[in-house]
Amino acid sequence: MSDAHFPHLGQPITLAGRTLRNRIVMGSMHTGLESASDAASFERLARFYALRARGGAGLIVTGGYGPNAAGRLTEKDLPFDGAEQAARHRVITGAVHEAGGTIVLQLVHAGRYAYHGEAVAPSPIKSPINRAVPREMSDADIRATIDDYVRAAQLAHDAGYDGVEVMGSEGYLISQFLAPRTNHRQDIWGGSLENRARFPVAVVAAIRAALGRSFLIVFRHSVLDLVEGGLSFDESVEVARRIAAAGADLISSGIGWHEARVPTIAGAVPHAAFAEAIRRLKAHLPIPVSLSNRINTPEVAERLLASGCGDMVALARPMLADADFAAKALGGHSSQIMICIACNQACLDHYFEDKVISCLVNPAAADEASFASAPAPAPRRIAVIGGGMAGLAAAREAARRGHGVTVFEAGPRLGGQMMLAAQVPGKADYAAAVAAFAAQLAALGVEVRLNTRIDAASDLAGFDAAVLATGIRPRRLDLPGADDPRVMSYEQALDGARPVGGRVAIIGGGGIGHDVALTLALTDHRAHDDPAAFAARWGIGEPAQKPVAARQVTMLKRQPGPFGRTLGKSTGWILRQDLADLGVRQIAGVAYDKIDGEGLHIHVDGGTQVIPADSIVVCAGQESEDRLAEGLAGAGIETHVIGGARLAGELDAKRAVAEGAALGCRL
Ligand code: NAP
Ligand code: SF4
Repeated sequence: MSDAHFPHLGQPITLAGRTLRNRIVMGSMHTGLESASDAASFERLARFYALRARGGAGLIVTGGYGPNAAGRLTEKDLPFDGAEQAARHRVITGAVHEAGGTIVLQLVHAGRYAYHGEAVAPSPIKSPINRAVPREMSDADIRATIDDYVRAAQLAHDAGYDGVEVMGSEGYLISQFLAPRTNHRQDIWGGSLENRARFPVAVVAAIRAALGRSFLIVFRHSVLDLVEGGLSFDESVEVARRIAAAGADLISSGIGWHEARVPTIAGAVPHAAFAEAIRRLKAHLPIPVSLSNRINTPEVAERLLASGCGDMVALARPMLADADFAAKALGGHSSQIMICIACNQACLDHYFEDKVISCLVNPAAADEASFASAPAPAPRRIAVIGGGMAGLAAAREAARRGHGVTVFEAGPRLGGQMMLAAQVPGKADYAAAVAAFAAQLAALGVEVRLNTRIDAASDLAGFDAAVLATGIRPRRLDLPGADDPRVMSYEQALDGARPVGGRVAIIGGGGIGHDVALTLALTDHRAHDDPAAFAARWGIGEPAQKPVAARQVTMLKRQPGPFGRTLGKSTGWILRQDLADLGVRQIAGVAYDKIDGEGLHIHVDGGTQVIPADSIVVCAGQESEDRLAEGLAGAGIETHVIGGARLAGELDAKRAVAEGAALGCRL
């Protein structure tokens, strides 16, 4: 990535009479702290948002708050409906303003997406992602809900927010009013588009009337619903026009309802995949529009603004990955921006697991205090052995604190397993994250020695401490025939070190087994890279075209039960769908017998089978590569073992980075 400047991104913009310093919006993201009422959680949120304000974001949108009890997302959330609760937010708005930022509170009414007993909706129709049938709102309920929005906006104003974002997309209550899919009413709130749009239009108009011209109103609008019975594109345009006329200052684009079976933000989605649709919407609107979804670099963002697709860019996850995204982009240091890799592992998946969000590449996100370490009292010389994610994270934090750090990497490149993952369709950004780490280390003066293997303590003369981050080695098969030339590790299959035949057996059904199956079955990556091919694959505006398998792939595992249970909640379904569409065969509950000229012999369901295979790829987990540990400890060198070298089981990059960063903060 070049360290270019970005003139369009850096241009100020005036909304509701206030001038924002640039076009970069920190988009709304539930942090998992919205439900808290304790002072420590508010301090934590204040630090989180203030850091992003200091990092240059032009506008910040908070996570979502329900305007009333029925609108809360979950049972434990608090409605944003009382002066006492609003007053607690002053610590957030004060910190953001002090840091030179502008912040609006997102108001989201969950409607039938509410996970509690009070869910309401325009019509009593259950959502496919929620077991409860919502109660149909009466006319009085609807009018009271509009009042609740106004009261919440007033409270937001009193709490010091510069405005509100009204969540009108993603399938929440406002979407439910707008779409025939969920609105079967026959009164003035249903039927014609005018009637279905009456509720959101009334919400925006009432907030504007109550709060005046200088209160910033952002409306998150569903550009594409991506569900059957959703709005047509022309209807979406018409709704946005009415919202603008009702007094909104900015249309913030949203893509897809939560129940849509089309990926919208995962790595399977090409960069800026929905920009054309947003451009078509913008052409009809008298107010600015912000772009969203899979925009993770300033280069992509600048290109979109320069080509007139939108007026601002909303970055949610990229702001978790790097709080200083805007400052680095606009200050000529874009190569040092830590890239959001769209893995969802520590953000969305944490939220779904009822945990506070974090970020795989930036474990300090939303936990800034834990990683805010002071400069080292006495700088030391630290050797980091291993340039995988754990080592890189440790090196970065240690160097930030003033230590002199050298990274020794035995191979020719940094990144370890992340660079292998980068070969998987939809994971090319993993390599960009490694490049960002390398740029950050270079800026911090960390010395990186590639192709340098440390074999013994004597290689570390002059160092005060060693960080052993040598990672893992793939587990080998212990099976008659395991030394057959057709058998290879997942590393060899992914990095192209060994040719892979047309019939492949994959041993192991974990995350890597799934990734390898996709990589080997799907050799045409266009649907992951090109928005038009993506739209065709997932049936956006045309019938879906299933991907074509390049190989015949069979996955096997010893445990009974369905494959893919360990995959992330927000991304696993996409991988499972891809593999199903590619015709990948999956056999669970097997015992491996041997490999011979016929193929892989297994026992399953009380019988035997042979899986004919030209290649057998072993994805059977890992073992720690920690052979140096004993020698270093024996030589009396202060040694810290982290990441896969410490524990290979269920190692993933999230744990590796978090362990490395935590160690770097206390060395
Ligand atoms: P994993 O999830 O632990 O899976 C290892 C697989 O190997 C299991 O399916 C296991 O299945 C099998 N296995 C274990 N020991 C074996 C043996 N001795 N012989 C034959 N099979 C054996 O590990 P991974 O797939 O290597 O992934 C490593 C980490 O990265 C995991 O934490 C994973 O979640 C993460 N990751 C996630 C993704 C993703 O979500 N897309 C992608 C890549 C990596 P049986 O015991 O049933 O045979
Ligand atoms: Fe992006 Fe993954 Fe971090 Fe989420 S956890 S912000 S998807 S890098």
